[in-house]
Amino acid sequence: MITVGIPRALFYYYYFPLWKDFFQNLGVKVVLSSPTNKNIVNNGVAMAVDEACLPVKLYYGHVLDLADKVDAIFLPRLVSTAHKEFICPKFMGLPDMIKSSGIKLPELIEVNIDLSRNKRAMRKAALEMGKHITGNTIRILKAWNLAVISQRQFEHIQRSGGQLTPQALELWTEETGNATLGMQQEIPKVALLGHGYNLYDRYVSMDIIHKLQKMGAEVITAENVPDSIIEEEAARLPKRMFWTLGKRQIGAAFHFLKRPDVKGLIHIASFGCGPDSLVGELIERHMRRAKTMPFLFLTIDEHTGQAGIVTRLEAFWDMIEWRNAQCQ
Ligand code: SF4
Repeated sequence: MITVGIPRALFYYYYFPLWKDFFQNLGVKVVLSSPTNKNIVNNGVAMAVDEACLPVKLYYGHVLDLADKVDAIFLPRLVSTAHKEFICPKFMGLPDMIKSSGIKLPELIEVNIDLSRNKRAMRKAALEMGKHITGNTIRILKAWNLAVISQRQFEHIQRSGGQLTPQALELWTEETGNATLGMQQEIPKVALLGHGYNLYDRYVSMDIIHKLQKMGAEVITAENVPDSIIEEEAARLPKRMFWTLGKRQIGAAFHFLKRPDVKGLIHIASFGCGPDSLVGELIERHMRRAKTMPFLFLTIDEHTGQAGIVTRLEAFWDMIEWRNAQCQ
């Protein structure tokens, strides 16, 4: 059986159900890189260009982790995943950066994904990906259509408030997803904003979701907000935001600001990230103007230490508890 490796990084946190089901439906064994660990971080930092942000550096480490374990590695070039919108330019250059890194690579399943002008471009991309496995077009399209259903189910659960856990994502099937992405309880909510590959990678985020849950918070993220609300809220900006991930963060921040059940907001940004600095500034301005809830801005890179994050989280949570006590 052919084995295809998927790096547990970047858009893995958004599209793994789609990719996994697609390859499995074609009879391929999907292998994930190990969860992020010190080795992966060190290897990624050593191999990546200095200017890269932490998530991109990590991607190198995850590719290296897979390189001698699989027959092929899935390495898409993501340009756009929505009409007239774009992904950060670093995603576009990723395959070239990896190929020139000196890593001894197996076969690469490369594909250009650009839906900025034409939604049907995805069908073409699916055929391109599938041709690495089989020449049977009908089989490829059938595998793709089934995988799309699985991805929709995954997104539906997230938009309905389901909390993404690394285990739930890794073991994803429609049935396990329903069982493991359970809805949360009615306890004080803390909104956590940032890219999925920062928030849901337990090593990178220093397990912030579980730390907040242990403190007594229910964590809610931009992925929990329905698309229609994101569109409506992001449209309040004087200029249209054409970064897909940035738009979701901004739209979610505006939405959370209006919700009385959300008691505080944390924004996690990658050091050196252009889109994050713009989006972070916009969110911070609105938070300062609204003055309705505590706000914490955290920047992370490979040097970020646990102690500083924990101290700031505790102070943030103390503030929420103090405000709650005042209201009672
Ligand atoms: S959006 Fe920011 S964090 Fe994400 S890949 Fe681009 S520069 Fe890195």
